[in-house]
Amino acid sequence: MDKEKNPKEAIKEKSIHGEMLFSILVPTIVTLVVIMLLFDTLMKITVDNDVKRELDNMANVAINMMDRENPGDYTKVGEEEVVIYKGETVLNNNYDLIDKIVDGTDLDITFFYKDLRVISTLVDDNGNRLVNLAAHSKVTREVLEEGKSRFYNNVTLDGVIYYAYYKVIYNSDGQIIGMVEVLKSAKKVTLYIVIRLIPVFFVGIMGIILIALVNRKMINRFVDILRRLEKQFNTVSKGKLDSQVDTSILNRPDEIGSMARSVTKMQKALKAMIELDALTQINNRRRGDTKLSTTIFKAKNNGTQFSVAIGDIDYFKKINDTYGHDAGDKVLVTVANILRKSMNGKGFVARWGGEEFLLVFERMDYETAVKYLKRIDEIIAKETIKINGTTIKVTMSFGITRGRTEDENNKVIKRADEMLYKAKSTGRNRVIADF
Ligand code: GH3
Ligand code: MG
Ligand code: MG
Repeated sequence: MDKEKNPKEAIKEKSIHGEMLFSILVPTIVTLVVIMLLFDTLMKITVDNDVKRELDNMANVAINMMDRENPGDYTKVGEEEVVIYKGETVLNNNYDLIDKIVDGTDLDITFFYKDLRVISTLVDDNGNRLVNLAAHSKVTREVLEEGKSRFYNNVTLDGVIYYAYYKVIYNSDGQIIGMVEVLKSAKKVTLYIVIRLIPVFFVGIMGIILIALVNRKMINRFVDILRRLEKQFNTVSKGKLDSQVDTSILNRPDEIGSMARSVTKMQKALKAMIELDALTQINNRRRGDTKLSTTIFKAKNNGTQFSVAIGDIDYFKKINDTYGHDAGDKVLVTVANILRKSMNGKGFVARWGGEEFLLVFERMDYETAVKYLKRIDEIIAKETIKINGTTIKVTMSFGITRGRTEDENNKVIKRADEMLYKAKSTGRNRVIADF
């Protein structure tokens, strides 16, 4: 038993609001990220192709211009101090042509004799040309040895990442004599892609904000309705069974409306269970007691008059014994109905015990109450009740007392009971009042 916790302690309160917004925003954000990644990949493919074409063109331009300016084959002279000729011209340290070719572009070109960098537009941090170095072994193998021009999108040279295109150069005898390398900095390409991704990202973020705002409004409205329903449930759980849900919610044709209608039905069912006697469907003892307290309270505050009577069916045991318990029940229901109808507009009636009833006359002087009660007694005595083909009649005895402002439930009922006892002991089927 100790383990059972107060539900409020056990359940940490949390709103459905955040959960709903989360479930909308997470797929939206994931979708945006996927779109961005797809866009980025597509951009990279397109840009790779564009860069490849650009580098290829530049390689062709470089080779053609070199041929036009310096007609003839590439030749090497010397073993220790190597000099590379193009036709009649010495290439080493002869940068005018290649610098002119790349002028105005963001590209770099290098001419290789076999795998040796002869002239290049690339300079290192100290301003020295990157020449007399060997090509990467992979490039040597894949371009020079295989005799294929190639494009790479990830070449590192002097710590910088480049897109690179290598085009094979042939001498007039058809032999591979070298290659030309055209480079474009990958950083610039990445920047180019990022600049194009920014508007997509921006539109995506705006979309997410818009979705969040629109949904927040919708969710707020929904949560507000839920809160009102929750409030109603709370009211019911505190035993307030007369409170009403807003008609705007009650009339909704959806699940929420249905829920609201269920609460209302639940309230009615609980009210009946708590307040009504199961057999006769009139007020039960608890309800009668509460109503009597209210009557006394009102009398004290407003100075209204009231009278209290207790009635008991005469020789009821005999009815049970002669006709059976069901017959007894039928008599109880019939008597209860007569009492309820008779008290309508005059006060109220409650089933006080087995075949005992409490009658309270409100806002009425004592003499009138006694007169009414005598009429009720007569009506009951005249009533015929059909049970299994035979008609039976019952009588009742009543004790009635005048309500006093200093009264309490027990006190006033005790006086009425005493009068009832007198009615019983003086022959039954009568009303005794304590004038
Ligand atoms: P008196 O005139 O002195 O009131 O006699 P009585 O027989 O009416 O009084 P008694 O108290 O001896 O018997 C009351 C009977 O009412 C006993 C009980 O079995 C019966 N009774 C109480 N509640 C019910 C009920 O809900 N249904 C039925 N059928 N009988 C009930
Ligand atoms: Mg009795
Ligand atoms: Mg009785």
